[in-house]
Amino acid sequence: MSFVFDPAPTPSLAIAGADARFPVRRIFCVGRNYAAHAREMGKDPDREPPFFFTKPADAVVDCGQSLPFPSMTENLHFEAELVVCLGRGGKDIAEDQARSHIWGYAAGNDLTRRDLQAEAKKMGRPWDMAKGFDQSAVIGPVHKAEDSDPFETGVITLSVNGEERQRGDLSEMIWTVPEVISILSGYVALHAGDLIMTGTPAGVGALQPGDTCVVTIEGLPDMGFSYDG
Ligand code: MN
Repeated sequence: MSFVFDPAPTPSLAIAGADARFPVRRIFCVGRNYAAHAREMGKDPDREPPFFFTKPADAVVDCGQSLPFPSMTENLHFEAELVVCLGRGGKDIAEDQARSHIWGYAAGNDLTRRDLQAEAKKMGRPWDMAKGFDQSAVIGPVHKAEDSDPFETGVITLSVNGEERQRGDLSEMIWTVPEVISILSGYVALHAGDLIMTGTPAGVGALQPGDTCVVTIEGLPDMGFSYDG
């Protein structure tokens, strides 16, 4: 097959301790998956079914670098999240099979133009431009999954310029990772290379040009980046 111009390179993520990279196919995100964050966003955190939104695959960017500050926002928010990286696809994946589809995990930041999101909510419009902008998914090196650590518990934190702003525990997720994989695979067939950003704990807030933002998750490499000043 030939193309009328060169196809775009495959977006990818670094892998901890390896030169090979993790090829990214799609990015799915879970909304409001920690009760305290649902409350701070004005919602009842009862177990209403999880909802999903997406970012373009090429919104991923490696950590450890300085990035241009995003355009078109006066209120850019950080969201510390566990990122699940799938190594095997499937449709209607059973909960008890879900872990066998996971290649690895990473710490990530679901960057959000909160002002555009608030406007979209008010107007009943899509979230794409609030969530799916360039470099809106900063994600750390992917750590290969091991049965010995399913990342069901573990402290997740986020700091800005060294000051802690978010602290939660993976065990506080309203919908567990296997539940999220199972439910999402009912909506769409999942594939190797798909990422799932699993939601953020309470404490979200704004970033400014020049800020350095670090996400830590117990058992994963720390994930930091800065914005150009
Ligand atoms: Mn999020």
